[in-house]
Amino acid sequence: MHVKSLEEPELATVLWRGVQLRCPRCGVGRLLSGYLRQAPACSGCGLETGDIRADDGPPWLTLLVTGHLLAPFMIIAFMTNVMPMWLVTLLMAGLAVGLCLAILPRAKGVFIAAIWKLGAQTSADLTDES
Ligand SMILES: [Zn+2]
Repeated sequence: MHVKSLEEPELATVLWRGVQLRCPRCGVGRLLSGYLRQAPACSGCGLETGDIRADDGPPWLTLLVTGHLLAPFMIIAFMTNVMPMWLVTLLMAGLAVGLCLAILPRAKGVFIAAIWKLGAQTSADLTDES
């Protein structure tokens, strides 16, 4: 597999690779091996990202983005009365679930990439120190 570059990329590049669920260093290997399960290491460059813990960051970012995307539509729908209330509620609930499912893995990718770039401690680092 072709590895683009092992030079440390810029933060914006790293974050974009996280959104794409790719290795933050090379952009080739996948960050996740399942819907939310982290791959132990990159298949392109061998970077070990499996020990990086994003904890509550991804759900927080997912709800933040989903809420801000849906809020304008909810306000417009409730103020204009273009649809029955039950239909607005059904549509918003469906959109909220769909957006959360779509955004959550990408938010996890962003957090893993940011933690790697910023050099925060991993659970393996914390175990080594004790
Ligand atoms: Zn890689």
